[in-house]
Amino acid sequence: MPITPTKKIWMDGELVDWDDATIHVLNPTLHYGWGVFEGIRAYATDRGPAVFRLTEHIERLFRSAHIYFLEPQFTVEQVIAATKETVRVNDVESCYIRPLMYLGHGEMGLLPVTSNTRISIAVWPWGTYLGDAAEENGVRARVSSWQRISANAIPPAGKGTGQYINSSLAKVEAIKAGYDEAIMLTPSGNVAEGSGENLFVVTRGTVYTPPVVDGVLAGLTRDSIMTMARDEGIEVVEKSIVRSDLYLADEVFCTGTAAEVVPMVEIDDRKVGKGVPGPVTKRLIELYRQAVTGRLDRYKEWNEYVRE
Ligand code: PMP
Repeated sequence: MPITPTKKIWMDGELVDWDDATIHVLNPTLHYGWGVFEGIRAYATDRGPAVFRLTEHIERLFRSAHIYFLEPQFTVEQVIAATKETVRVNDVESCYIRPLMYLGHGEMGLLPVTSNTRISIAVWPWGTYLGDAAEENGVRARVSSWQRISANAIPPAGKGTGQYINSSLAKVEAIKAGYDEAIMLTPSGNVAEGSGENLFVVTRGTVYTPPVVDGVLAGLTRDSIMTMARDEGIEVVEKSIVRSDLYLADEVFCTGTAAEVVPMVEIDDRKVGKGVPGPVTKRLIELYRQAVTGRLDRYKEWNEYVRE
């Protein structure tokens, strides 16, 4: 998806012009993928841009850093403040936000110098990740031939830059085969998640999602949806799911900051339910839209306003 440039990128405490936010070609993160990142969105609200669950995203960034021994020179609070500042100075009402921790250059090899940890934060306006019509019409997915990374290969609980080669292989395979998204299985064959989204199955009114032990990222959108569904009186159960559960479900949808909430209407060439977005999915899409734009008082702590 193309990036629309904005004005400034935050780099280690400085606001740098967009075109000058560059790194050296011998940067070790570029070579070996030892870095961590977040994907966050800010939404336009009556009170200006509100970053959705910003604090929890930055806390997850620092947890990812902990997994990889990275030593950020800034605190969680400083990175939160820097993120708000970057949204403010770029004059965007809604945007995607990409904080990244990476290694400074100067050494090469598989032993990273984790004390040399750098941070950048970029923001840009970004449309819906799975396409404009995805939310309305749903998408077609296929189970990938690529397995989701397992906990003892590369920890799926972190958002390490290098681990996304696994997601990308699955995504590329799905797109080349004519589908919109990939669904990845665990090494033991349970359903894990999409290439960058968590998965939910609706069967006879109950919502099921794979547990974190099945190698899924503990998505913040996943958590928002589970919370809002439960508050609506819908039963939500975290349990392992197998491939045929997807085929036999009434509804399947996926969730992620970039993708938001998207119905999956066809999986492995089988219609899911009636082959159109179902009522539970549609209701949750509506609630999510209201929550992110600060229109639900009950979840107002999720809206972190940048101009207040
Ligand atoms: N799974 C993976 C592998 C992801 O990369 C993402 C996106 N961060 C998600 C799930 C969804 O997580 P979130 O809702 O926190 O964006």
